[in-house]
Amino acid sequence: MARYVFKFGGTSVGDAKRIKSVAEKVKQAHSEGHEIIVVVSAMSGETNRLTALAGGLLVKPNPREMDVLLSTGEQVTIALLSMALGALGCPAESFTGGQVEILTDSVHSKARIKDIGVAAIQNCLKSGKVAVVAGFQGVNEQGHITTLGRGGSDTTAVALAAKLKASECYIYTDVDGVYTTDPRVEPTARKMDSITFEEMLEMASLGSKVLQIRAVEFAGKYNVPLRVLSTFSEGNGTLITYEDDGMERALISGIAFNRDEAKLTINGVPDLPGVASKIVGPIAANNIEIDMIIQNIADDETTDFTFTVHRNDYHKAVALLEEIKTSLSAKKVSGDDTIVKVSLVGVGMRSHSGIASKMFDVLASEGINIKMISTSEIKISVVIDEKHLEAAVRALHKSFELAGRPVL
Ligand code: ASP
Ligand code: MG
Repeated sequence: MARYVFKFGGTSVGDAKRIKSVAEKVKQAHSEGHEIIVVVSAMSGETNRLTALAGGLLVKPNPREMDVLLSTGEQVTIALLSMALGALGCPAESFTGGQVEILTDSVHSKARIKDIGVAAIQNCLKSGKVAVVAGFQGVNEQGHITTLGRGGSDTTAVALAAKLKASECYIYTDVDGVYTTDPRVEPTARKMDSITFEEMLEMASLGSKVLQIRAVEFAGKYNVPLRVLSTFSEGNGTLITYEDDGMERALISGIAFNRDEAKLTINGVPDLPGVASKIVGPIAANNIEIDMIIQNIADDETTDFTFTVHRNDYHKAVALLEEIKTSLSAKKVSGDDTIVKVSLVGVGMRSHSGIASKMFDVLASEGINIKMISTSEIKISVVIDEKHLEAAVRALHKSFELAGRPVL
Protein backbone atom coordinates (compact mmCIF):
# COMPACT_ATOMS: atom_id res chain seq x y z
CA MET A 1 0.00 0.00 0.00
CA ALA A 2 1.28 3.42 -0.89
CA ARG A 3 0.05 6.94 -0.28
CA TYR A 4 -0.45 9.26 -3.24
CA VAL A 5 -1.59 12.79 -3.86
CA PHE A 6 -3.49 13.29 -7.13
CA LYS A 7 -4.13 16.82 -8.31
CA PHE A 8 -6.69 17.57 -11.03
CA GLY A 9 -6.68 20.93 -12.80
CA GLY A 10 -9.65 22.98 -13.94
CA THR A 11 -10.15 21.36 -17.35
CA SER A 12 -9.99 17.89 -15.78
CA VAL A 13 -13.04 18.77 -13.65
CA GLY A 14 -14.60 21.13 -16.23
CA ASP A 15 -18.04 19.47 -16.36
CA ALA A 16 -20.09 16.69 -14.80
CA LYS A 17 -18.89 14.09 -17.30
CA ARG A 18 -15.26 14.92 -16.62
CA ILE A 19 -15.80 14.86 -12.86
CA LYS A 20 -17.24 11.36 -13.28
CA SER A 21 -14.22 10.15 -15.19
CA VAL A 22 -11.88 11.68 -12.61
CA ALA A 23 -13.88 9.81 -9.96
CA GLU A 24 -13.37 6.56 -11.88
CA LYS A 25 -9.62 7.12 -12.03
CA VAL A 26 -9.48 7.83 -8.30
CA LYS A 27 -11.67 4.84 -7.48
CA GLN A 28 -9.36 2.59 -9.50
CA ALA A 29 -6.27 3.65 -7.50
CA HIS A 30 -8.19 3.42 -4.22
CA SER A 31 -9.44 -0.08 -5.04
CA GLU A 32 -5.82 -1.17 -5.56
CA GLY A 33 -5.41 -0.55 -1.84
CA HIS A 34 -3.65 2.82 -1.90
CA GLU A 35 -4.33 5.81 0.32
CA ILE A 36 -5.43 8.64 -1.93
CA ILE A 37 -5.56 12.37 -1.28
CA VAL A 38 -7.12 14.28 -4.16
CA VAL A 39 -6.58 18.02 -4.63
CA VAL A 40 -8.81 19.83 -7.11
CA SER A 41 -8.89 23.20 -8.83
CA ALA A 42 -12.05 25.12 -9.56
CA MET A 43 -13.92 24.07 -12.73
CA SER A 44 -12.22 25.64 -15.76
CA GLY A 45 -13.09 29.30 -16.21
CA GLU A 46 -14.63 29.58 -12.75
CA THR A 47 -11.85 31.59 -11.08
CA ASN A 48 -11.91 34.02 -14.02
CA ARG A 49 -15.70 34.24 -13.83
CA LEU A 50 -15.60 35.08 -10.13
CA THR A 51 -12.83 37.63 -10.68
CA ALA A 52 -14.92 39.30 -13.38
CA LEU A 53 -17.98 39.38 -11.06
CA ALA A 54 -16.03 41.38 -8.50
CA GLY A 55 -14.47 43.48 -11.24
CA GLY A 56 -17.92 44.41 -12.51
CA LEU A 57 -18.78 45.75 -9.09
CA LEU A 58 -15.70 47.80 -8.28
CA VAL A 59 -12.17 48.36 -9.50
CA LYS A 60 -10.30 47.44 -6.35
CA PRO A 61 -12.18 44.73 -4.46
CA ASN A 62 -11.30 44.24 -0.82
CA PRO A 63 -8.52 41.58 -0.78
CA ARG A 64 -9.97 39.65 2.15
CA GLU A 65 -13.40 39.42 0.52
CA MET A 66 -11.81 38.59 -2.83
CA ASP A 67 -10.27 35.49 -1.28
CA VAL A 68 -13.62 34.53 0.28
CA LEU A 69 -15.10 34.82 -3.21
CA LEU A 70 -12.40 32.97 -5.16
CA SER A 71 -12.17 30.09 -2.69
CA THR A 72 -15.77 29.14 -3.51
CA GLY A 73 -14.63 27.76 -6.89
CA GLU A 74 -12.68 24.95 -5.30
CA GLN A 75 -15.36 24.34 -2.69
CA VAL A 76 -17.77 23.46 -5.50
CA THR A 77 -15.44 20.88 -7.02
CA ILE A 78 -14.56 19.09 -3.77
CA ALA A 79 -18.26 18.57 -3.05
CA LEU A 80 -19.09 17.40 -6.59
CA LEU A 81 -16.14 15.04 -6.78
CA SER A 82 -16.87 13.54 -3.36
CA MET A 83 -20.48 12.95 -4.41
CA ALA A 84 -19.35 11.35 -7.66
CA LEU A 85 -16.96 9.07 -5.77
CA GLY A 86 -19.69 8.11 -3.31
CA ALA A 87 -22.01 7.25 -6.18
CA LEU A 88 -19.37 4.87 -7.53
CA GLY A 89 -19.17 3.15 -4.14
CA CYS A 90 -15.84 4.75 -3.29
CA PRO A 91 -16.14 6.46 0.12
CA ALA A 92 -14.82 10.02 0.09
CA GLU A 93 -14.89 13.12 2.23
CA SER A 94 -14.34 16.72 1.15
CA PHE A 95 -12.23 19.29 3.00
CA THR A 96 -11.82 23.03 2.55
CA GLY A 97 -8.41 24.53 3.25
CA GLY A 98 -9.65 25.66 6.67
CA GLN A 99 -10.93 22.19 7.55
CA VAL A 100 -7.53 20.66 6.78
CA GLU A 101 -5.88 23.54 8.65
CA ILE A 102 -3.73 24.72 5.79
CA LEU A 103 -2.23 27.60 7.71
CA THR A 104 -0.87 30.50 5.64
CA ASP A 105 0.44 34.00 6.15
CA SER A 106 -2.00 36.88 5.67
CA VAL A 107 -0.98 38.08 2.20
CA HIS A 108 -4.38 37.83 0.53
CA SER A 109 -4.32 36.55 -3.08
CA LYS A 110 -0.76 35.26 -2.81
CA ALA A 111 -0.45 33.74 0.62
CA ARG A 112 2.30 31.30 1.51
CA ILE A 113 1.70 28.06 3.36
CA LYS A 114 3.27 28.02 6.83
CA ASP A 115 2.02 24.67 8.11
CA ILE A 116 -0.55 21.98 7.47
CA GLY A 117 -2.58 20.06 10.03
CA VAL A 118 -2.52 16.31 9.48
CA ALA A 119 -5.19 15.03 11.88
CA ALA A 120 -8.29 15.53 9.70
CA ILE A 121 -6.79 13.85 6.66
CA GLN A 122 -5.11 11.07 8.66
CA ASN A 123 -8.49 10.22 10.23
CA CYS A 124 -10.18 10.23 6.86
CA LEU A 125 -7.56 7.93 5.33
CA LYS A 126 -7.60 5.66 8.36
CA SER A 127 -11.32 5.13 7.94
CA GLY A 128 -10.68 3.91 4.42
CA LYS A 129 -11.95 7.02 2.63
CA VAL A 130 -10.46 9.17 -0.09
CA ALA A 131 -9.67 12.71 1.13
CA VAL A 132 -10.77 15.35 -1.38
CA VAL A 133 -9.10 18.68 -0.62
CA ALA A 134 -9.78 22.13 -2.08
CA GLY A 135 -6.65 23.47 -3.75
CA PHE A 136 -5.52 27.09 -3.81
CA GLN A 137 -6.86 28.04 -0.35
CA GLY A 138 -5.86 28.21 3.27
CA VAL A 139 -6.56 30.19 6.40
CA ASN A 140 -4.41 32.66 8.30
CA GLU A 141 -3.92 32.71 12.05
CA GLN A 142 -7.16 34.63 12.55
CA GLY A 143 -9.05 32.00 10.58
CA HIS A 144 -9.60 34.28 7.58
CA ILE A 145 -9.66 32.58 4.18
CA THR A 146 -6.59 33.16 2.00
CA THR A 147 -5.64 32.05 -1.52
CA LEU A 148 -2.25 31.04 -2.87
CA GLY A 149 -2.08 32.83 -6.23
CA ARG A 150 -3.21 31.70 -9.67
CA GLY A 151 -2.31 28.06 -10.28
CA GLY A 152 -2.00 27.63 -6.52
CA SER A 153 -3.67 24.21 -6.38
CA ASP A 154 -0.39 22.73 -7.60
CA THR A 155 1.26 24.12 -4.49
CA THR A 156 -1.50 22.75 -2.23
CA ALA A 157 -0.93 19.30 -3.73
CA VAL A 158 2.84 19.36 -3.32
CA ALA A 159 2.64 20.76 0.21
CA LEU A 160 0.20 18.02 1.24
CA ALA A 161 2.39 15.38 -0.37
CA ALA A 162 5.40 16.68 1.59
CA LYS A 163 3.57 16.95 4.89
CA LEU A 164 1.83 13.56 4.60
CA LYS A 165 4.94 11.86 3.21
CA ALA A 166 3.25 10.63 0.05
CA SER A 167 5.31 8.44 -2.29
CA GLU A 168 4.55 10.63 -5.27
CA CYS A 169 2.46 13.62 -6.26
CA TYR A 170 0.60 13.25 -9.56
CA ILE A 171 -0.39 16.47 -11.29
CA TYR A 172 -3.14 15.55 -13.76
CA THR A 173 -3.63 18.21 -16.38
CA ASP A 174 -4.56 18.71 -20.03
CA VAL A 175 -1.07 18.10 -21.43
CA ASP A 176 0.66 14.72 -21.31
CA GLY A 177 3.92 15.95 -19.83
CA VAL A 178 6.75 18.45 -20.12
CA TYR A 179 8.11 18.93 -23.63
CA THR A 180 11.59 19.81 -24.91
CA THR A 181 10.00 22.99 -26.22
CA ASP A 182 6.53 24.24 -27.16
CA PRO A 183 5.18 21.80 -29.79
CA ARG A 184 3.21 24.65 -31.36
CA VAL A 185 6.52 26.22 -32.35
CA GLU A 186 8.49 23.03 -33.05
CA PRO A 187 6.27 20.07 -33.97
CA THR A 188 9.05 17.52 -33.34
CA ALA A 189 9.27 18.57 -29.68
CA ARG A 190 9.52 15.47 -27.53
CA LYS A 191 7.86 14.69 -24.23
CA MET A 192 10.56 14.12 -21.63
CA ASP A 193 10.36 11.05 -19.41
CA SER A 194 12.10 12.91 -16.61
CA ILE A 195 13.56 16.29 -15.78
CA THR A 196 15.28 17.59 -12.65
CA PHE A 197 13.66 20.09 -10.26
CA GLU A 198 16.27 22.68 -11.21
CA GLU A 199 15.62 22.29 -14.92
CA MET A 200 11.88 22.39 -14.39
CA LEU A 201 12.22 25.62 -12.42
CA GLU A 202 14.11 27.18 -15.32
CA MET A 203 11.61 25.86 -17.85
CA ALA A 204 8.65 26.99 -15.73
CA SER A 205 9.98 30.44 -14.94
CA LEU A 206 10.78 30.94 -18.60
CA GLY A 207 7.21 30.48 -19.60
CA SER A 208 6.49 26.76 -19.93
CA LYS A 209 3.40 27.20 -17.84
CA VAL A 210 2.69 23.61 -16.90
CA LEU A 211 3.13 24.01 -13.17
CA GLN A 212 3.03 26.85 -10.67
CA ILE A 213 6.66 27.77 -10.00
CA ARG A 214 6.14 27.79 -6.27
CA ALA A 215 4.99 24.17 -6.43
CA VAL A 216 8.21 23.13 -8.15
CA GLU A 217 10.30 25.02 -5.57
CA PHE A 218 8.40 23.33 -2.78
CA ALA A 219 8.77 19.89 -4.35
CA GLY A 220 12.52 20.41 -4.75
CA LYS A 221 12.94 21.64 -1.20
CA TYR A 222 11.10 18.70 0.34
CA ASN A 223 12.14 16.18 -2.31
CA VAL A 224 8.63 15.24 -3.37
CA PRO A 225 8.72 13.36 -6.67
CA LEU A 226 6.25 15.08 -8.98
CA ARG A 227 4.68 13.62 -12.07
CA VAL A 228 2.89 15.73 -14.67
CA LEU A 229 0.50 13.71 -16.80
CA SER A 230 -2.71 13.92 -18.78
CA THR A 231 -6.14 13.22 -17.34
CA PHE A 232 -7.40 12.45 -20.81
CA SER A 233 -4.87 9.99 -22.22
CA GLU A 234 -2.79 7.07 -21.03
CA GLY A 235 0.94 7.43 -20.39
CA ASN A 236 3.43 8.01 -17.62
CA GLY A 237 3.86 11.73 -18.19
CA THR A 238 7.06 13.43 -17.05
CA LEU A 239 8.67 12.72 -13.69
CA ILE A 240 10.29 15.71 -11.99
CA THR A 241 12.88 14.54 -9.54
CA TYR A 242 16.44 14.86 -8.28
CA GLU A 243 19.31 14.17 -10.58
CA ASP A 244 20.26 10.54 -10.45
CA ASP A 245 23.98 9.90 -10.93
CA GLY A 246 23.27 6.77 -12.89
CA MET A 247 21.02 8.60 -15.31
CA GLU A 248 22.33 9.04 -18.80
CA ARG A 249 21.28 12.57 -19.51
CA ALA A 250 21.22 14.68 -22.61
CA LEU A 251 23.41 17.78 -22.47
CA ILE A 252 20.45 19.99 -23.08
CA SER A 253 17.01 19.12 -21.78
CA GLY A 254 14.91 21.78 -23.39
CA ILE A 255 14.47 25.17 -24.96
CA ALA A 256 12.28 27.66 -23.15
CA PHE A 257 11.23 31.01 -24.45
CA ASN A 258 9.36 34.04 -23.27
CA ARG A 259 7.52 36.41 -25.56
CA ASP A 260 6.56 38.89 -22.83
CA GLU A 261 9.86 40.72 -22.68
CA ALA A 262 10.94 44.29 -23.24
CA LYS A 263 14.34 45.92 -22.80
CA LEU A 264 15.39 49.36 -21.68
CA THR A 265 18.72 51.16 -21.83
CA ILE A 266 19.99 54.23 -20.06
CA ASN A 267 23.13 55.63 -21.69
CA GLY A 268 25.85 57.79 -20.26
CA VAL A 269 25.26 57.27 -16.55
CA PRO A 270 28.18 58.31 -14.31
CA ASP A 271 30.36 55.32 -13.39
CA LEU A 272 30.17 55.76 -9.62
CA PRO A 273 29.25 53.64 -6.60
CA GLY A 274 25.51 53.52 -5.98
CA VAL A 275 24.41 54.21 -9.54
CA ALA A 276 23.08 50.71 -10.24
CA SER A 277 21.01 50.90 -7.11
CA LYS A 278 19.68 54.34 -8.10
CA ILE A 279 18.49 52.87 -11.41
CA VAL A 280 17.11 49.55 -10.23
CA GLY A 281 15.78 50.80 -6.90
CA PRO A 282 12.93 53.01 -8.17
CA ILE A 283 11.94 50.39 -10.75
CA ALA A 284 11.67 47.68 -8.08
CA ALA A 285 9.91 50.10 -5.71
CA ASN A 286 7.18 50.36 -8.34
CA ASN A 287 6.71 46.59 -8.30
CA ILE A 288 8.30 46.09 -11.68
CA GLU A 289 10.30 42.92 -11.83
CA ILE A 290 13.67 43.16 -13.55
CA ASP A 291 15.05 40.07 -15.21
CA MET A 292 18.36 40.35 -17.10
CA ILE A 293 20.74 43.21 -16.30
CA ILE A 294 23.83 44.24 -18.26
CA GLN A 295 26.19 47.06 -17.40
CA ASN A 296 28.88 47.94 -19.90
CA ILE A 297 32.49 48.68 -19.08
CA ALA A 298 32.98 52.43 -18.75
CA ASP A 299 35.32 54.07 -21.20
CA ASP A 300 34.73 57.77 -20.54
CA GLU A 301 33.71 57.74 -16.88
CA THR A 302 30.17 56.98 -17.95
CA THR A 303 28.54 53.67 -18.62
CA ASP A 304 25.42 52.18 -20.23
CA PHE A 305 22.95 50.09 -18.32
CA THR A 306 20.45 47.73 -19.97
CA PHE A 307 17.79 45.54 -18.40
CA THR A 308 14.65 43.63 -19.29
CA VAL A 309 11.15 43.81 -17.79
CA HIS A 310 7.77 42.26 -18.53
CA ARG A 311 6.23 43.82 -21.62
CA ASN A 312 3.20 45.02 -19.63
CA ASP A 313 5.53 47.12 -17.48
CA TYR A 314 7.42 48.63 -20.40
CA HIS A 315 5.77 52.06 -20.63
CA LYS A 316 5.77 52.55 -16.89
CA ALA A 317 9.46 51.57 -16.75
CA VAL A 318 10.36 53.99 -19.57
CA ALA A 319 8.66 56.84 -17.70
CA LEU A 320 10.51 55.98 -14.50
CA LEU A 321 13.81 55.73 -16.35
CA GLU A 322 13.28 59.19 -17.84
CA GLU A 323 13.01 60.58 -14.30
CA ILE A 324 16.11 58.63 -13.26
CA LYS A 325 17.94 60.01 -16.29
CA THR A 326 17.30 63.55 -15.13
CA SER A 327 18.31 62.90 -11.55
CA LEU A 328 21.56 61.14 -12.59
CA SER A 329 22.31 63.57 -15.44
CA ALA A 330 22.51 60.61 -17.79
CA LYS A 331 22.46 61.04 -21.56
CA LYS A 332 19.65 59.03 -23.07
CA VAL A 333 16.90 56.50 -22.49
CA SER A 334 15.93 54.02 -25.18
CA GLY A 335 14.02 50.78 -25.31
CA ASP A 336 12.46 48.02 -27.36
CA ASP A 337 9.30 46.08 -26.61
CA THR A 338 9.53 43.75 -29.60
CA ILE A 339 12.11 41.39 -28.16
CA VAL A 340 11.92 37.84 -26.81
CA LYS A 341 14.12 35.64 -24.68
CA VAL A 342 15.20 32.17 -25.75
CA SER A 343 17.02 29.85 -23.35
CA LEU A 344 18.77 26.52 -23.49
CA VAL A 345 18.30 24.58 -20.25
CA GLY A 346 20.19 21.51 -19.10
CA VAL A 347 22.06 20.23 -16.06
CA GLY A 348 24.53 18.65 -18.51
CA MET A 349 25.94 22.14 -19.09
CA ARG A 350 27.68 22.03 -15.76
CA SER A 351 30.18 19.48 -16.95
CA HIS A 352 30.47 20.45 -20.60
CA SER A 353 31.98 23.47 -22.27
CA GLY A 354 31.21 24.71 -25.74
CA ILE A 355 27.44 24.86 -25.40
CA ALA A 356 27.33 28.66 -25.53
CA SER A 357 29.56 28.85 -28.57
CA LYS A 358 27.50 26.23 -30.35
CA MET A 359 24.33 28.15 -29.52
CA PHE A 360 25.80 31.38 -30.89
CA ASP A 361 27.00 29.59 -34.04
CA VAL A 362 23.53 28.22 -34.69
CA LEU A 363 21.93 31.64 -34.29
CA ALA A 364 24.60 33.24 -36.50
CA SER A 365 24.00 30.75 -39.26
CA GLU A 366 20.32 31.72 -39.17
CA GLY A 367 21.30 35.38 -39.49
CA ILE A 368 19.85 36.15 -36.04
CA ASN A 369 21.37 39.02 -34.11
CA ILE A 370 21.83 38.52 -30.36
CA LYS A 371 21.01 41.63 -28.32
CA MET A 372 21.71 40.40 -24.79
CA ILE A 373 23.18 37.28 -23.24
CA SER A 374 22.97 35.90 -19.73
CA THR A 375 24.03 32.59 -18.26
CA SER A 376 23.61 30.50 -15.14
CA GLU A 377 25.04 27.09 -14.27
CA ILE A 378 22.34 25.26 -16.18
CA LYS A 379 20.99 27.88 -18.58
CA ILE A 380 22.06 30.19 -21.39
CA SER A 381 19.59 32.90 -22.40
CA VAL A 382 19.69 35.27 -25.33
CA VAL A 383 17.49 38.22 -26.17
CA ILE A 384 16.60 38.50 -29.86
CA ASP A 385 14.07 40.25 -32.08
CA GLU A 386 10.60 38.72 -31.70
CA LYS A 387 10.40 38.08 -35.44
CA HIS A 388 13.22 35.53 -35.12
CA LEU A 389 11.71 33.54 -32.28
CA GLU A 390 10.36 30.59 -34.28
CA ALA A 391 13.46 30.26 -36.43
CA ALA A 392 15.74 30.37 -33.39
CA VAL A 393 13.81 27.75 -31.44
CA ARG A 394 13.62 25.40 -34.43
CA ALA A 395 17.29 25.73 -35.35
CA LEU A 396 18.43 25.16 -31.77
CA HIS A 397 16.06 22.23 -31.30
CA LYS A 398 17.55 20.61 -34.39
CA SER A 399 21.20 21.35 -33.69
CA PHE A 400 21.02 20.07 -30.13
CA GLU A 401 19.18 16.97 -31.37
CA LEU A 402 16.20 17.31 -29.07
CA ALA A 403 13.62 15.95 -31.48
CA GLY A 404 11.76 12.77 -30.88
CA ARG A 405 11.51 10.11 -33.53
CA PRO A 406 9.00 11.17 -36.14
CA VAL A 407 5.57 9.75 -35.48
CA LEU A 408 4.67 7.39 -38.36
N1 ASP B 1 -8.49 28.02 -9.46
C1 ASP B 1 -7.25 28.70 -9.31
C2 ASP B 1 -6.82 29.29 -10.65
O1 ASP B 1 -7.54 29.19 -11.62
C3 ASP B 1 -6.19 27.83 -8.74
C4 ASP B 1 -5.79 26.66 -9.60
O2 ASP B 1 -6.51 26.25 -10.50
O3 ASP B 1 -4.72 26.09 -9.35
O4 ASP B 1 -5.77 29.86 -10.74
MG1 MG C 1 -3.04 24.94 -13.23
